[in-house]
Amino acid sequence: QVFAGASDALTVIRANPDCELVACKTWEELNLKPGLLKALYKTMKFQKPAKIQEAALPLGLRDPAENGIFQAKSGQGKTCAFSLIMLMRVNEALKHTQAVCVAPTYELALQSARVCRKMGEGIGVSVLLATSDKRSCPKFKKGEKCTDQIVIGTPGKINALLKSKVIDGKKVGVFVLDEADEMVKESGHCKDTQTIKKFMPQAQALLFSASYEGNTYELSKTLCKRKDKQGKPMRFNEIRIADVKDVLIDEIAQFYIKTGGSSNEDETKMEALASIYGSLSVGQSIIFVERKATADKLQLFMEGKSLACAKLHGGVDIELREKLFTEFVEGKRSVLIATNALARGVDVPGMSLVVNYDFPVNRDGTPAFETYQHRIGRCGRFGRKGCAFTFVHSAKDQELLDETADHFGCTVTEADADDPEELVELVKKAQDQAPASAS
Ligand code: ADP
Ligand code: MG
Repeated sequence: QVFAGASDALTVIRANPDCELVACKTWEELNLKPGLLKALYKTMKFQKPAKIQEAALPLGLRDPAENGIFQAKSGQGKTCAFSLIMLMRVNEALKHTQAVCVAPTYELALQSARVCRKMGEGIGVSVLLATSDKRSCPKFKKGEKCTDQIVIGTPGKINALLKSKVIDGKKVGVFVLDEADEMVKESGHCKDTQTIKKFMPQAQALLFSASYEGNTYELSKTLCKRKDKQGKPMRFNEIRIADVKDVLIDEIAQFYIKTGGSSNEDETKMEALASIYGSLSVGQSIIFVERKATADKLQLFMEGKSLACAKLHGGVDIELREKLFTEFVEGKRSVLIATNALARGVDVPGMSLVVNYDFPVNRDGTPAFETYQHRIGRCGRFGRKGCAFTFVHSAKDQELLDETADHFGCTVTEADADDPEELVELVKKAQDQAPASAS
């Protein structure tokens, strides 16, 4: 069943066919707190709800609260959707934690905390960023309670706060999982997520992601199922993209470059990189590598070419991560070299180019479809145009790419790094053809 107000790709699955679905076309229809309504127009400058917000907000704000699994493509406004639900559900007069949001990485938690603070400024809600960065999350004394109504953080820290009762799980009304598939999957944060969930079994669970590959949808459903006091299964909502062939963003032109010219993989890949940056005038960009060591090597190479760049991965000290990430978000840096730690969620509107220096693979060597999806989704945000280059070095790389293109039903066009004029022409053509609409 296709939801009337949303794009064709959004499917709403109702646990209870009698309940009526209402798409909100304006912010006014949602009966928001006046301070939030004002923040949406004046601070955020969001004139109307995005598609996912149209669909998810009326469901997420329903009383009594219902759990939900929500899916929308990259860069379509999921953060604003769950932030609004948390901000609506907390009582700002009560000085204890009532909403908890967990994100898989430091940068993502930081970014969501900033969005939520900005939106909640006018209603006096306070937001704690709970990560290993001691500057934002101080050590709580024994018996001390967190007084912030909303806590946004990474799994380990959130878990610790609940365990030490700094946050009383029984008093938490909303539990948001951003990048939910990563949070529930076995190779991701499933252990922490399950423990966190057990501390607040009665909280409204809201799961958001652009991808639900493999068994992560089933795992998400298990997390969402709950029973009422009489033992009756409670309703939960789902908004999903029905077909995986619809999850990529049309505004992102995808190319690949064969770099198999010499046996020295890094050498030819770096040459290709130099020619991309030498010929295309890019705004902000991100280069994804699989290993930290490659990131280190690449940074030296780029700087040797007088291309200033920052490097972000799990091995970088947390205070430096905050500094570099903030500078990048503020546009003070234009090139970022990163591992998959940055593949998800990061929202930098000026990002117009993504390079897959290494193809994203799972531990068993199969293509990591969702990582490809999330990585390229760092550009082309909210209707903007973007372009992604993937380096193909070996026959194995070619297989990985072909499988990925087949999986998503997308076209990835070959580009020649040795021909700068053709490169410019190709990108221009692709971007002229891409739909130029914000959703
Ligand atoms: P997602 O989590 O779905 O990948 P984000 O929540 O990071 O996407 O949002 C992507 C961009 O869209 C952000 O820069 C955000 O400011 C913008 N955005 C979100 N909602 C709206 C809206 N209703 N109107 C205009 N821009 C919006
Ligand atoms: Mg997001």
